Amino acid sequence: MPSQAKLVLHKPEVCLVSSLADVLSKSSSKDLSRTLILLPTQRLGTHLIARLARHWAAFIPPKISSLEAIIQQARPTTHGSVVSETSLEFIIQRTLHRETYKYLQPGHERELRLILGELYDNDCRDDGFEKGRNFIRQDIYRDPNYIDSLIYRLDEIEDVLLKVESYLEAQGRLCQGKRVAMASCCQGAIHQQLSQYEKIYLVAYTSVAPSWLPALKVVCQQANTEIWLSKKPDIYHRSSPLDLLCQHVENFLDDHKTCQADGISYPQEQAELLEVDTPFAELATVVQLISDLVAQGHESSQIGVLLTNEGIYGPLFSRLQEASFAGANLAMTSRLSNTELGRWLQRMMHCVEDPSLENWLDWMRDPYTTSWLLEQHEISMEALTWNLARSNAPTLEHFLRGDGESEELLVSLQELSRDFASGDHPLDHWVTTLFRWFNRCFGEKLTKLDKPSLLDAVSSFERALEDIGSLRSELLNRRDFFDFIDRFLLAAEVRVTGEPLQGVQVINLAESRYYPFSAVIILGCNEGTFPKGLPKDELLDNTLKKEMGLPGWDSLEAMEDQTFHLLKARIPKLYLLRSKYVAGQPTVRSRFIERLQAENRLALHKLPFQPEDFWQTIGKPTPESVLTPYHEGLVAVEPDSLWTKMSASSLEKLIRCPYRFLLSKAQIQPLDFFRRDDPRAEGEWLHKVLEVFFRGTYDEAELFSWHGVARDDFRSIALSRLERLTIMIGPAGIQSKPVYFHLIQHSWPAFVDHIDRFFGETLVTLSRGMKEASLGTMSRRRQTLKIRNLVRDCQGSIDSIDFSYGLTMLTDYKRKGNPTRRETQLGISPQLAFYALVVQGYHRDLDIKQMIVGYWNIIKGEWSTHGVGDECRDKAQERGLANQRSPSLPQILDATVRTWTWREKQVLDQERFYADPSCCGMCEYQDICRKDDPRYRVQLEDQADLNEFVSGEQQ
Ligand code: SF4
Repeated sequence: MPSQAKLVLHKPEVCLVSSLADVLSKSSSKDLSRTLILLPTQRLGTHLIARLARHWAAFIPPKISSLEAIIQQARPTTHGSVVSETSLEFIIQRTLHRETYKYLQPGHERELRLILGELYDNDCRDDGFEKGRNFIRQDIYRDPNYIDSLIYRLDEIEDVLLKVESYLEAQGRLCQGKRVAMASCCQGAIHQQLSQYEKIYLVAYTSVAPSWLPALKVVCQQANTEIWLSKKPDIYHRSSPLDLLCQHVENFLDDHKTCQADGISYPQEQAELLEVDTPFAELATVVQLISDLVAQGHESSQIGVLLTNEGIYGPLFSRLQEASFAGANLAMTSRLSNTELGRWLQRMMHCVEDPSLENWLDWMRDPYTTSWLLEQHEISMEALTWNLARSNAPTLEHFLRGDGESEELLVSLQELSRDFASGDHPLDHWVTTLFRWFNRCFGEKLTKLDKPSLLDAVSSFERALEDIGSLRSELLNRRDFFDFIDRFLLAAEVRVTGEPLQGVQVINLAESRYYPFSAVIILGCNEGTFPKGLPKDELLDNTLKKEMGLPGWDSLEAMEDQTFHLLKARIPKLYLLRSKYVAGQPTVRSRFIERLQAENRLALHKLPFQPEDFWQTIGKPTPESVLTPYHEGLVAVEPDSLWTKMSASSLEKLIRCPYRFLLSKAQIQPLDFFRRDDPRAEGEWLHKVLEVFFRGTYDEAELFSWHGVARDDFRSIALSRLERLTIMIGPAGIQSKPVYFHLIQHSWPAFVDHIDRFFGETLVTLSRGMKEASLGTMSRRRQTLKIRNLVRDCQGSIDSIDFSYGLTMLTDYKRKGNPTRRETQLGISPQLAFYALVVQGYHRDLDIKQMIVGYWNIIKGEWSTHGVGDECRDKAQERGLANQRSPSLPQILDATVRTWTWREKQVLDQERFYADPSCCGMCEYQDICRKDDPRYRVQLEDQADLNEFVSGEQQ
């Protein structure tokens, strides 16, 4: 009897799981019950048990586990409970917040958590940083300044991780990587677990982390153990993780005799390489391939569809699941923010932080909030929505009070604001409050739901909240707590495992290892997706990581390469699919496709994609017939009641797409949530800087005055004021951001030149202009316009109106992109014309004959004239603000009125606010209008009548 394990090496084409099932089926039922099988994924274990169940009518199954689970069960002497990833990132964030670091900043939490885990996994927590520092010091070719900054950065990373770990220790907690590394060294405890079995198999591993090696050594020392690995396939990469694992095992076996075994393998057909235009066409091809494979006799659960990029293919699969992939098992990862629970959370936070009418409405209309409200109140959400949309109430409270019948509803809603009232509280207070609201809206109803994605999201959310709630922390205010939800909870990944034995298996590449599929279709075979592109690590570069003992990028590349070649060697039928374009951008075909073309002389077949054929293939009605009941934009109100109040932005929406206008009027909140790092936040403070620059007052405090500033001094004074205001109004730390240097060196000098050109010697009029001029307060008269004989109440505010030399300059500031002149001339970007139409004639300086209108692009530092009054072109040209080709202001006003009138007539004729996809741009409602849904696309494209109108206008 050997005193140690036996290493059995199989050819790469051998199906290890089928071979193991074959061997086990020859054991006695009694032996089977005393067998332990260690497999890398749960999916393989489930499949194996199912195979055995086909052999025995009744049996006590072997124990299925994994090496990791065996390690986890060993209890190190100093142990604590493992902190979740979300809590760990939160602790790192609090530490970054408390300490002052030069190189580390909020946003680095995830990378720091991964570094900590990798340090433990790779056994270099103790010496990794010192090795890194030595390497940097020895690199004589680097600039000394750069060396210093690298070393300081390393010092800061080490410091923050030390602080985080001592905080965890004080709380009796530790990170997962540390727990595994410690437990792996508890060889006695691991041996004890293994000794309960008469036979042990460790099968289908392709690599193990260095920190698991002590545990692997114990497995190797068990005489009753067989370790089944594949021989290294012939991969492109120079190193193979499988080869390394074999070496480790062989080193642990003092007197090893490696067996070569013949296992079960299946006849193979040539791989097929397929190319289509878009990811959607890839999915349509998948539908066709699956139907062909099933017709050829493949069981659907033996067909694997492997996603190389869940971000691209996940949403497409979900969208088509009902129509084309009914019964398929979609085991995908998504962010909590993309689940129903995540959306409910975001809506709730918006409502608390900004209790505007639309945010309240949006939260109330979330299906989970609605169902909670309907449990307690007899209300019609539909009626409430439209009454709200048409009301003039400034807040929800005003509306509900005025409504009389809805007072009780108000009381329920006010509870949310009360519960999350600001103030400093311990973390568990906030967590308990959030749990209370979560249970109200979700708790009881969940058992009735049949959505694995939501159930998985809810359970991971509950686990994360429970874990974070158990941490002792300093007091937090609501904003900090919401920040935690926003940055960590909502960003957390939710994995849906699904049912591995039923239906086509849609899984990721790593999950597919060794699963005995009879056919596999790999999607997204493009460079950057498969193999993946380089990760964007900010803190440690690849070379430095390797010098510290961490795996570099090439080890991940080698693993992907190995996975592909194991699949290629073993799977009877393999398809590699790619699309030529992703998100409109051309792609480069994967090196895996290229090699198969070059070495195996395989052809890449280009497949045409016909949407009609696709719908017929899946047995669904064609788009035209599906569309009959889809009448977007039908509302039970008079259109006139929705467009009597008009702002420049709602007019633009109406002109470009009536459906977008309707959705925004009904205050449907798009899922385009405003994040604190959103570029729009930059636009807001930049606008504020310019407003304060002219006014000289900020938060009612007088900062400076333009009175008495001489022309010669103007430039230097203006620049220093802009610099000061940038620091004062911009976000914290702006002085170290690239945008600051760009503003100081380029944008502000260009802006000062521009206003100097306009004011010239008349600087004294600089503070006479109107800034952020609200249409509602500019005159005591009602701000109205009459279009189609219907009086419109006009709303909004104008960024800047300035007066000099008898000229009036109406400016809208843009952070980056302006509408084009052509769009203004056609009336499809009506903002400037709308303002000019409304303000003309309010007083003698607001005469459109003497007015120029245009956009100032703040970042680019560029002025763009979009309209010049009839009597001021010469003056404007003299001042360098216009030229002969600058559009005529009266003409753009006419064009705007014409386009506006035309659009309203279209809506009235069609009797609905239809979706017009002529200029979707960055429309926030595209998920709602379903313009990309192939069932509706054709109809919506037929409604693109703005394009036709515009071509008629241009002729
Ligand atoms: S995505 Fe296009 S068609 Fe859809 S609502 Fe927006 S603008 Fe209209």
